[in-house]
Amino acid sequence: MAASVKVAVRVRPFNSRETSRDARCVIQMQGNTTCIWNPKQPKETAKNFSFDYSYWSHSTDDPAFASQRQVYLDIGEEMLLHAFEGYNVCIFAYGQTGAGKSYTMMGKQEPGQQGIIPQMCEDLFKRTSENTDPDLSCSVEVSYMEIYCERVRDLLNPKSKGALRVREHPIMGPYVEDLSKLAVTSFHDIRDLMDAGNKARTVAATNMNETSSRSHAVFTIVFTQRRRDQLTSLNTEKVSKVSLVDLAGSERADSSGAKGVRLKEGANINKSLTTLGKVISALAEMQNSKRRKSEFIPYRDSVLTWILKENLGGNSRTAMIAALSPADINYEETLSTLRYADRAK
Ligand code: ADP
Repeated sequence: MAASVKVAVRVRPFNSRETSRDARCVIQMQGNTTCIWNPKQPKETAKNFSFDYSYWSHSTDDPAFASQRQVYLDIGEEMLLHAFEGYNVCIFAYGQTGAGKSYTMMGKQEPGQQGIIPQMCEDLFKRTSENTDPDLSCSVEVSYMEIYCERVRDLLNPKSKGALRVREHPIMGPYVEDLSKLAVTSFHDIRDLMDAGNKARTVAATNMNETSSRSHAVFTIVFTQRRRDQLTSLNTEKVSKVSLVDLAGSERADSSGAKGVRLKEGANINKSLTTLGKVISALAEMQNSKRRKSEFIPYRDSVLTWILKENLGGNSRTAMIAALSPADINYEETLSTLRYADRAK
């Protein structure tokens, strides 16, 4: 039975566009409470939300400030330890384009700027290399895919033609047919693969931002621990699937001035995000009310949730990080991100 989702919100500093327009900050954080107010209304009408973590980024002196390391230690490390225990794990970043999803998941190459994915990979190999048990061996395989308009593309084999099919194995659950799964033995192997994969991601311009990521990127680590029983010489395997997801921007199509193909694209992206929201809140509700029925969870309503089925429900642990802009001009989108995150608890 899945524990309820661990939810964090993280506000990024002002960007240069916001600074040049003298944007005002509409968010405050204290402890695990995030407060947001409508810039057009009195501050007394502010709304409060509470999450497992509320991360601030503007000033390192602020008690709510969280470095990349802190975010990893709170969320990434906990999820990695669950993977060692044999759980499937999912961490996803949700939010408007430019709010800090990629920064949180991938980060930058500079020291101290690496996001959850590189820190988790590094930690995984560090821990496996420290293993001194001769009967235990570990292997790591990775895949990297993009879901764009409900179609799956292999980012580790970008030349492969057409969309890949999602199928369902009666025991192992849903999987993507013909998706490359590459064995890796070090973090450097993974970084090279990811760099190539990131270059292949579909990126298109919208009025919202110069470049705007319109696809969901799903990086998966399959971590296998094999134990040999000395008496029987039989092997037992513990397999954990770790899915790390950088979701497409959650902004509504109408607010970014999208038309035609872009509008249709927006509807498809929102379909996955809406379904993900429904799945997560249905799981949270099931957990909170201690009901065990799972037939009402609409995994199959979107490709994203179908692929993530084994990482969201059942034997799994999930964390969500909602990325927020601090600026008054993004108030509506930021409030809708907070409401989405609130439904996951
Ligand atoms: P998204 O993936 O949601 O579209 P990005 O992660 O690309 O947004 O963030 C937009 C910009 O803001 C990037 O230049 C990024 O480095 C910066 N940024 C985002 N979050 C933070 C943060 N917590 N601290 C410092 N800079 C950030």
